[in-house]
Amino acid sequence: MPLLTIKNCLDPVLRKTCLPIENIDGELVTLAENMVETIRAAPGVGLAANQIGLAQRMFVINIGVETDKENLITVVNPEITTMEGNELGEEGCLSIPDVVAEVNRASQIEIKGYDLDGNEVHYEAEGYLARAFQHEMDHLNGILFWDNLAKMKRDILKRKFKKKIKEQDA
Ligand SMILES: [Zn+2]
Repeated sequence: MPLLTIKNCLDPVLRKTCLPIENIDGELVTLAENMVETIRAAPGVGLAANQIGLAQRMFVINIGVETDKENLITVVNPEITTMEGNELGEEGCLSIPDVVAEVNRASQIEIKGYDLDGNEVHYEAEGYLARAFQHEMDHLNGILFWDNLAKMKRDILKRKFKKKIKEQDA
C-alpha cells in the first residue's frame, strides 16, 4: 500500500475545518488503510485526514502499535462528548517535525464516532490516549497543538520548525 505524504503545518489544509464524511465506502476504507501504513512508517501516534491533504473528519490513532496491532483506532466523524480534569503533558505532531511542547489537555474524555463498517463506536480514554484523541480532534477543527501556547513560546518553536524545514530542503 502506498505511503501518503504528510503535509506540514505551513499547508493551508491544516487550518481547514474538516467536513463530516457522508459515505463510508471502499474508497474511504482504502484511504484509512493507507493512513495506518503511513502512521506506522512515520512512526507517529495520530494522523488526521487533513494532514494528508483531505479535509474530512477522520483520524487514526496508533498507540502501542509496535507491540499490538489491535491498538490501531480509526474514527470517522468523531465527537468528544465528555471532558474532565486537566493534565500537562508533552506533545509533538507529524506536521511539525522535531518540535515538542507541554500542552494542557483534559485528562479524561469520552468520544463517539463511527468505525469503517459504519458502526457507532464509543471510547473512554484517559492519560496519553485522551491526549491523542484531543490532538487529532483539534486537527479536524484546523487547530495545531501549539496554538494554545503563549505567543513567545510558540514563536520559539516556529523558528525551530522553520530551521528544520530548511535543513530538509537543503
Ligand atoms: Zn498533529
